[in-house]
Amino acid sequence: MFILLSVTVVAYIADIGAWQFVEQHRHAYFDKMQVWDYTGLSYAKYNARDADKEVLGCVVENKVLLSSLLSRVQETDLLKKIYPSRLNSMSILPNSSSSEVDSTLSMTALFTHGRLAKLELEDGNGLYAKLVVGADGGKSRVRELAGFRTTGWNYSQNAIICTVEHDVENHCAWQRFLPSGPLALLPIGDKFSNIVWTMSPKESSEFKSITEDNFLKAVNRALDYGYGPHPTPSILGSSDLFSWLKGGISKSANDCFEIPPKVIKLASERMAFPLSLRHANDYVSKRVALIGDAAHTVHPLAGQGVNLGFGDASTLSSVISEGIAVGADIGEVSLLKKYEADRKPANVMMMAVLDGFQKAYSVDFGPLNILRAAAFHGAHHISPLKKSIISYASGEMRLPLFA
Ligand SMILES: Cc1cc2nc3c(=O)[nH]c(=O)nc-3n(C[C@H](O)[C@H](O)[C@H](O)COP(=O)(O)OP(=O)(O)OC[C@H]3O[C@@H](n4cnc5c(N)ncnc54)[C@H](O)[C@@H]3O)c2cc1C
Repeated sequence: MFILLSVTVVAYIADIGAWQFVEQHRHAYFDKMQVWDYTGLSYAKYNARDADKEVLGCVVENKVLLSSLLSRVQETDLLKKIYPSRLNSMSILPNSSSSEVDSTLSMTALFTHGRLAKLELEDGNGLYAKLVVGADGGKSRVRELAGFRTTGWNYSQNAIICTVEHDVENHCAWQRFLPSGPLALLPIGDKFSNIVWTMSPKESSEFKSITEDNFLKAVNRALDYGYGPHPTPSILGSSDLFSWLKGGISKSANDCFEIPPKVIKLASERMAFPLSLRHANDYVSKRVALIGDAAHTVHPLAGQGVNLGFGDASTLSSVISEGIAVGADIGEVSLLKKYEADRKPANVMMMAVLDGFQKAYSVDFGPLNILRAAAFHGAHHISPLKKSIISYASGEMRLPLFA
């Protein structure tokens, strides 16, 4: 699977010394993005230069990202031990009544006093930890074992992902909203792109099993005239509706709608993933913190899942460092709550926005279509808005409520 990383996350990975490993593998920066829908009413096009930037993001293979982070961990002189086994069980006892516990006590004694969590792995190994960070994905075992409750629902949508080849290079991220869900074409370097195509489960099993030729035809159709016309400059283009927003017309207001490069070959197998929204009601409890998909699973329509996860990791590591600096117990809820207080509002807001998008595009209704066209029009033509959208997408700014 390929992942779209925001420039802020790329900078974070570089800061922690892991980007040098990513750079040794396939990765693709992109500086343009075009978003449109099947109604043909409008479109939005972003150029990195609209926000005085060189790039809008970078697409990297998930396994490259993981191995790069691991390589970075391996080369540090931190004391580390990697247990390549799954977590089976976890026990955490309440603090004993004695306020001061001698830290030189045995692990078992510290566990009994509630100062360590005890973990048991599938291979029979056991370990103790001051803090357990559940970074184990949407079906987190840590979340389950710690008893965190979640809120959420399954979308009646699957995403088909695969790699495709073009006969020209692609440097733009394309996304078209179709009646059944968005279709994204993300550049991954050279003449290859990654497809993330959201559709109903029934359609996804059909699109997974049709011949390569028919699949490529379906993709090309969906990125061109299929489902509806190309957007004209905009049905709102000649109106003065937005001229009162005196931020000015964006530099690239004349950026024309483009048809994405044709796909000519399938370069990987097609895989289908069910999509859901899930949010842990709490991110922390005594000796446990959840990050990434363990805390929140979002719709992939804006490619934000990993970016939110890195935001969590960055904040949690700062909170831990601050705790260590003042001699605090890093497993204490009072300290961990600082992480939750910072990340939860930001994640909830992003989830709400993505869920709103998902719902707004699930309906084909005249007035709503016009509203969406107006939103695209504003996003394309109003310079300050365009800059803000690029800044939110790049991870530089948080959504307005929490700026
Ligand atoms: C179709 C699709 C496309 C996406 N595209 C993008 C995108 O472009 N950009 C983006 O930012 N996000 C994207 N996402 C979201 C992104 O994939 C997730 O947000 C991200 O992978 C979450 O990372 P994570 O490390 O929290 O969890 P995961 O990637 O799920 O990793 C969890 C890890 O924990 C391990 N684990 C699980 N259980 C246990 C256990 N009991 N013991 C030990 N280990 C365990 C797993 O083996 C795995 O290695 C997409 C998601 C989907 C479905």
